[in-house]
Amino acid sequence: MNEKIENVVIIGSGPAGYTAAIYAARANLKPLVLEGLKAGGVPGGQLMTTTEVENFPGFPEGITGPELMQRMKAQAERWGSECYSEDVISVDLCQRPLVVTTTERIIKTHGLIIATGATAKRLDLPNEERYWNNGISACAICDGASPLFKGVELAVVGGGDTAAEEAVYLTKYGSVVHLIVRRNEMRASKAMQDRVLQNPKIIVHWNKEILDAYGNGTLLKGIKLLDKTTQQEQDLPVEGLFYAIGHTPNTDIFKNQLELDHTGYLVVQENTIETSVKGVFAAGDVQDHHYRQAITAAGTGCMAALSLERWLSEHNLIQEYQQTQTTHPESSPVKPQTEPVEFDPSQTYQYGGYALRKLFHESDRLLLVKYVSPSCGPCRALKPILDKIAQQYQDKIYLVEIDIEADPEIAQMGQVIGTPTVQFFQNKELVKQIKGVKSSNEFKETIDSLMASYVRT
Ligand SMILES: Cc1cc2nc3c(=O)[nH]c(=O)nc-3n(C[C@H](O)[C@H](O)[C@H](O)COP(=O)(O)OP(=O)(O)OC[C@H]3O[C@@H](n4cnc5c(N)ncnc54)[C@H](O)[C@@H]3O)c2cc1C
Repeated sequence: MNEKIENVVIIGSGPAGYTAAIYAARANLKPLVLEGLKAGGVPGGQLMTTTEVENFPGFPEGITGPELMQRMKAQAERWGSECYSEDVISVDLCQRPLVVTTTERIIKTHGLIIATGATAKRLDLPNEERYWNNGISACAICDGASPLFKGVELAVVGGGDTAAEEAVYLTKYGSVVHLIVRRNEMRASKAMQDRVLQNPKIIVHWNKEILDAYGNGTLLKGIKLLDKTTQQEQDLPVEGLFYAIGHTPNTDIFKNQLELDHTGYLVVQENTIETSVKGVFAAGDVQDHHYRQAITAAGTGCMAALSLERWLSEHNLIQEYQQTQTTHPESSPVKPQTEPVEFDPSQTYQYGGYALRKLFHESDRLLLVKYVSPSCGPCRALKPILDKIAQQYQDKIYLVEIDIEADPEIAQMGQVIGTPTVQFFQNKELVKQIKGVKSSNEFKETIDSLMASYVRT
């Protein structure tokens, strides 16, 4: 156990977490931010799964969700916040100092800010697990550009703004987009409904429920619908199904530690962000049924940091740190993948189809192919993790980044369904595939074991 006691630990890296970090860091508290990895979304939070954010003040031309979150992180780090892409697995709020346990370590802290947000709900269809990431997805923005979804029929389930936005977005790729709505009306704003109803590529199925998904054992080939008014069943031959049916607050680790309401949201005292335990504050969607917006999450993140600073000060618990303004290469934007890059075999990190073809045929190193798409937020979250891997395994592996929009035929050959996906090749053979954002340990273990078995053969 690390005997150091932190001033403040922040759990979560959405707008609430990073705003709390900016304020706490500027108050010389040197906050430790546990950004999450797999639990409850991706580092950067929900906005990593969207395209344009048009309502966050200060960006009159709009800004993409991933870009906004990258900027918030850079600002938090610039003032000295320490950020770690780790999941918190438990907390002990009954003792002082408080104890936070992550997948990597145990941390003691005087103050805690909870900003764990919310996670997309699933339908729990009988065949859902089988076709998850093989046609079924909870993130149209991340996966929609996959070649497997181009020119085929797609479906979105849900009736709110997210469902409407995703249906419109997917018309860029699918031949037709079916929007499955369980009632005879949508909850989406009038403006979003109009965009859906006026789009000739979207067919709305009112009063329909999805009973199951079916496919060829590997890939999704359709869904079974129930008409709730006639009770008739119908097959819809879609090859992509995107969930947009709302969110559940990420509060499992706080059960029996903090007061939750009947739907699992953290309860805060009226007009404050104080939880039921002193020194523990909650910010953002994890405590907000009502507004669930980036700006309100950021606002309550600010409230949490200011309230915690006051509380620590009243209890004489503050240990001040000098601010250091730093720039972090990790926070630099993702390299534009469409840029032509000259092939230089001395570089471990490579870009594009030309480098891939050369290395695939000419190199005997372990070859990692990372498939990304420009609008995919989780791809940005994975980038610093793989940047470090490329540094650690310099001259031992090659890592080639492929933008599936720029090189669709390569993604097609690799049968890539979603981004980010990393494929491992040895002797021109696909030996392993990792989908989504995973820890650097998982990548290291995979590389070490593949290289060990390669040496033995
Ligand atoms: C598709 C989509 C589009 C949207 N568009 C807009 C928009 O245009 N404008 C707008 O204002 N709002 C928009 N929103 C809503 C907005 O994204 C949310 O209100 C906002 O992100 C909430 O911020 P948050 O910080 O509370 O939580 P989140 O953004 O949900 O972040 C939660 C964080 O907690 C982390 N976490 C969870 N569990 C753990 C754990 N156990 N350990 C460590 N970390 C953990 C997660 O990794 C994540 O980083 C959109 C949402 C979606 C889904």
